[in-house]
Amino acid sequence: MKGFSYWELQSWFTNVDFCIIGSGIVGLNCALSLREQYPKAKIMVLDKGILPKGASTKNAGFSCFGSISEIVADLKSHSQQEVIDLVRTRWEGVQLLKARLGEKAIGYQNNGGYEVFFNQEDFQNSLDHLDPVNRMLEEVFPSTPFHVYPNRFQFENCVNAYIGSPFEGQINTGEMMKRLIYIAQSEEIQLLYGMEVQSFTQLSNKVQIHTSEGDFDTSKLLIATNGFASQMFKEDIKPARAQVMITKPIDNLKIKGVFHMDEGYYYFRNVDNRILIGGARNLDFKAEESTVFETTDKIINQLHKVLSEVVLPHTSYEIDHQWSGIMGVGIQKGPIVKALSDDVYCGVRLGGMGVAIGSAVGAQLANLAH
Ligand SMILES: Cc1cc2nc3c(=O)[nH]c(=O)nc-3n(C[C@H](O)[C@H](O)[C@H](O)COP(=O)(O)OP(=O)(O)OC[C@H]3O[C@@H](n4cnc5c(N)ncnc54)[C@H](O)[C@@H]3O)c2cc1C
Repeated sequence: MKGFSYWELQSWFTNVDFCIIGSGIVGLNCALSLREQYPKAKIMVLDKGILPKGASTKNAGFSCFGSISEIVADLKSHSQQEVIDLVRTRWEGVQLLKARLGEKAIGYQNNGGYEVFFNQEDFQNSLDHLDPVNRMLEEVFPSTPFHVYPNRFQFENCVNAYIGSPFEGQINTGEMMKRLIYIAQSEEIQLLYGMEVQSFTQLSNKVQIHTSEGDFDTSKLLIATNGFASQMFKEDIKPARAQVMITKPIDNLKIKGVFHMDEGYYYFRNVDNRILIGGARNLDFKAEESTVFETTDKIINQLHKVLSEVVLPHTSYEIDHQWSGIMGVGIQKGPIVKALSDDVYCGVRLGGMGVAIGSAVGAQLANLAH
């Protein structure tokens, strides 16, 4: 128990019912779901960052459920039912997020989402699957999810039409996370930042947690560390860095909505009158299997190329800012929500869809810990 004072131990680290590692979308939603079930429990969320430091405050803010080419690709490696379930979880997850936090508070805008195709062959392949995919997903959505649209934003060096959905939207990522943190604090959930968990030990009926600041016990441990999960236990999950940049404001910007390219490996959207663009991880999978927060010339140069040649071919722009975040991915796309021992549980592998499925995964993780 070295490291903590008597007072700290007594007020914070004694009789902990639930300790959650990771204050991203999953960890905070898990804490809120636990609070609904256990109004008097001592619930604590630990994070190594001064803010959540993974993907939840770094992402692009798409509330999406998978572009047509991504769904067609998933059908090659997953069963039809698995793909329907993935899409349903994403769609229902967005509804849960909006209901819990409020559309206004998270800056939700339903401007639609579109897939832009680099070449005719890929467009044709998705077009050939349009009707069967729409039929497959009609049980999930209120009406037909995917439609063909003309090239209304006049992108260049790409196919002159998009396949998109009116059901996709966008949020303000920072405001969403601020809201979650605010609600967790109002629910008397202890949020402790700058505290790294180094390891844990399952004892009989409790778990001992070893942190950068000292050790303590909890009745139940819930791990929501996503891209960092492989540092603590072995499952089919590894880190995947994603790099992003955003322009300075652009006069008379007409582009509105969220856009996917190349099976979701590239994405861009408007943020008010700016363009945010990210992706290109498929240029260098091995190097991007990293937990280091940095941007690289190789990826950033490629994002510039797509931005200047496809998205804004006749508009001069300046980049205001660039950054990276760390996702958790695996061979299978669905999240891993399971018990690791009697009192330790994990909810990880959110891929590039945590905005959509993070609330639901947090709730599922909470439900495991009875
Ligand atoms: C650039 C980028 C763009 C994205 N765009 C989108 C998008 O548009 N739409 C979408 O749906 N998804 C998007 N995603 C994915 C989405 O952000 C993630 O799926 C989601 O945020 C994962 O949430 P999480 O809570 O599981 O993990 P995280 O938000 O990564 O939270 C995990 C937390 O665990 C903490 N942690 C890790 N190890 C330890 C430790 N040992 N001790 C203490 N704390 C620890 C970390 O500091 C971190 O805060 C994007 C991701 C990135 C990086």
